[in-house]
Amino acid sequence: MRRRPLLLAATAIALACLPALHADVADSVAAGISRSSYTHYLDDVLYTHDGDDRGFGAEHNLARDAIYAQFATFGLQTSLDPFTYSGSTYYNVVATIPGRTRPDDIYVIGAHYDSVNNPGADDNASGVAGVLEIARVAADYWWDATLVLIAFDREEQGLIGSQAWVDEHLSDNIVGMISLDMIAWNPAGLRHDWVRVYAGSDYWVHRSEVAAAIEAYSSLTALPCKDLRASDHVPFEDAGFPGAMVIEESHGTNPHYHQPEDSVDSADYIDYAFATEVTRGIAGWTAQYAGATETPEPGTLLLVAAGVACLAWRRRTAA
Ligand SMILES: [Zn+2]
Repeated sequence: MRRRPLLLAATAIALACLPALHADVADSVAAGISRSSYTHYLDDVLYTHDGDDRGFGAEHNLARDAIYAQFATFGLQTSLDPFTYSGSTYYNVVATIPGRTRPDDIYVIGAHYDSVNNPGADDNASGVAGVLEIARVAADYWWDATLVLIAFDREEQGLIGSQAWVDEHLSDNIVGMISLDMIAWNPAGLRHDWVRVYAGSDYWVHRSEVAAAIEAYSSLTALPCKDLRASDHVPFEDAGFPGAMVIEESHGTNPHYHQPEDSVDSADYIDYAFATEVTRGIAGWTAQYAGATETPEPGTLLLVAAGVACLAWRRRTAA
């Protein structure tokens, strides 16, 4: 009879360890990416309808505050990181999930939320909706490394917000960065359901890993490309951090690029299923490299507590 508490304790601790044994946590992170949730962020949160102006219009600040509120709703450490552009203060919106076992390794997933004085549905609320959806799913896991999710401002004026953020974090150990920039225009054609991954020559390993993860965790084809120095990954690359830009294959033929019609209201325009798949691939990459672990169920935590209590009781009675 004296062995029963010890047996209970061992069983409880073994059960508690079961989630960590799941070899396919990255698959479950990717599977958690939801098209309806992505669509909600793009259509209902980010001011992407006809007439909206996320450049310097009223909707710019409304979108910024809505992104902040979403990150906070997920329970993440959230901040508005200020910088100056043309004499005025602007803000990157930053959410952080501290890593548990290698917190100094930092992975950054970013997308710019400013537009060119238009609704900016594809450029680039599509990327921001992806970041929000990854944040929503990621918040339910434990992470080995630290995740930093950023909605950058003033990309369209020359990567101003991302450059400012990088300048403040030059001594950090940023081991991987992805900029999602235009991920929802996917017209029928030869390269339907293709996505491009751009990176500089110093970062082709990172580029290959991102492309491979997109193909592993989504239904898409990913095409590694020489760098396109036109998004928020560039300040990271220039500072020596592995950066990459993920963008729709057909971005060069987007008829509404930087036009008032870059709106979710434009007919036959936004491909929500495609954008969701891109997001799923990036979520899989994040989980694979930053190390996601399923959090124990509350019942498991109770078992652990019971196990620890049993061990303590066993020690006291044995003493
Ligand atoms: Zn853009």
